[in-house]
Amino acid sequence: MRTYDYDFFVMGAGSGGTRAARVAAGHGARVGVAEDTYLGGTCVNVGCVPKKLLTYGAHFAEDFEDAAGYGWTVGDCHHSWARMVANKNIEIERLNGVYEQLIKSAGADIHWGRACLIDRHTVDVGGRRFTAEKILIAVGGWPFVPDFPGSEHAITSNDAFYLPELPKRVLIVGGGYIAVEFAGIFHGLGAKVIQLYRGALFLRGFDDDVRTFLAQEMIKKGIDLRFDAEVQSVTRKDNGTFLVDITNTGTIETDLVMYATGRKPNTADLGHDAAGVALDAHGAVVVDGDWRTNVDNIYAVGDVTNRIQLTPVAIQEGHALADALFHPSGKTVSYDYVPSAVFSNPEIGTVGYTEAEARARYDGVDIYRSTYRPMKYTMSGRDARGLMKLVVARDTQRVVGLHVVGPAAGEMTQGFAVAIKMGATKQDFDATIGIHPTAAEELVTMRTPVPNPEQRARS
Ligand code: NDP
Repeated sequence: MRTYDYDFFVMGAGSGGTRAARVAAGHGARVGVAEDTYLGGTCVNVGCVPKKLLTYGAHFAEDFEDAAGYGWTVGDCHHSWARMVANKNIEIERLNGVYEQLIKSAGADIHWGRACLIDRHTVDVGGRRFTAEKILIAVGGWPFVPDFPGSEHAITSNDAFYLPELPKRVLIVGGGYIAVEFAGIFHGLGAKVIQLYRGALFLRGFDDDVRTFLAQEMIKKGIDLRFDAEVQSVTRKDNGTFLVDITNTGTIETDLVMYATGRKPNTADLGHDAAGVALDAHGAVVVDGDWRTNVDNIYAVGDVTNRIQLTPVAIQEGHALADALFHPSGKTVSYDYVPSAVFSNPEIGTVGYTEAEARARYDGVDIYRSTYRPMKYTMSGRDARGLMKLVVARDTQRVVGLHVVGPAAGEMTQGFAVAIKMGATKQDFDATIGIHPTAAEELVTMRTPVPNPEQRARS
């Protein structure tokens, strides 16, 4: 029998890799982990965590304004970008330490350096070689910037978290999660923001009412949304600002060009060829339903597989894989009804099917929809509204989609996601007593379906 240095070697100490390493070590496996950048991966360092902290930071601007309606006199407010970033960095370092402790206390070894596959049982980490019976690829993804004249001037979300100062004018390109979230952050902190999207309406894949509603609310706040527009070139002026040539718009001048045009799997120098691991056309590691690659002792979880790019999904995958390999329990990961939130301003919470997806999937669909003025704004006078929407399969009356735009949409959606995952029907929602006064009670008190699109068009 061949002996290996490790039972399990994990490439990448992000969300999925760390969980897999800890759980495997907890089951008694000898585990090595390689990481070349930072413990905690994208989420902890340049993703969910710092993004949420900056979102909190940006929100104070509205909170100070709203306070006036409640009798507060708030003096001159000043924001220090540098102080916020420094404090954010302290928190991230604390979390890096927590991750280190979690891995080490589970009994796994951390090896610093870039991990590269040498063959199906050997990994090189900065010149040191380790053999392992089983290997997990959990190296995540990296922001992608398309090629265009001047693309070298564009920053990505990775850089945005470490800017030395807040730019006065920001151009954000892209129409996904990251683009709308950073539009809200920069705008809230006082920058003049233009967000550019190549299609007719951003957030492709989200419910159409949500997309339209968010666009309206962002415009009301003063964010300049430009759809059906693309950057042709970026030129840097001597004074450090940028001239951006945009289709349908002409040239604009800005202090920062940020691209949020998606993320690509981090497989460029993975050594997949040497080990015989297959990638798809987008460079993602191809896995089966058990996260196994075409090489039967090599597995992959999380963003490197380019499936659902969400931290909690990667964590569940890592956990389930480690269980399956070292302490089989039969548990697996369900990819149905995965909830998510977009921390735009206002926030989006969503779980299940959009109206369009449900209409394509079910014979009949009932839609319940309501817009509301968040109670907090009645006294503050803020001109902002929220949206609640339920998508119900008519024959079973199962609630198959829930979409919220407004304050705390993510918090709300997490709770409702349990009910929806369990198969709650509209009658279950109706039978649930609302909590008054909350915004969420609207989701259990909507009684009359809105007309279907044809009826809406006729009326
Ligand atoms: P997304 O894939 O969500 O969006 C990418 C955007 O860029 C789309 O609007 C896309 O347009 C556009 N785009 C792609 N290529 C080009 C191009 N060549 N030129 C112009 N525009 C282009 O990526 P993000 O970077 O926003 O986020 C990556 C992933 O990270 C998300 O999918 C999400 O899973 C995850 N994430 C989750 C968060 C959360 O849970 N709150 C927060 C942040 C990220 P089109 O639609 O036309 O293709």
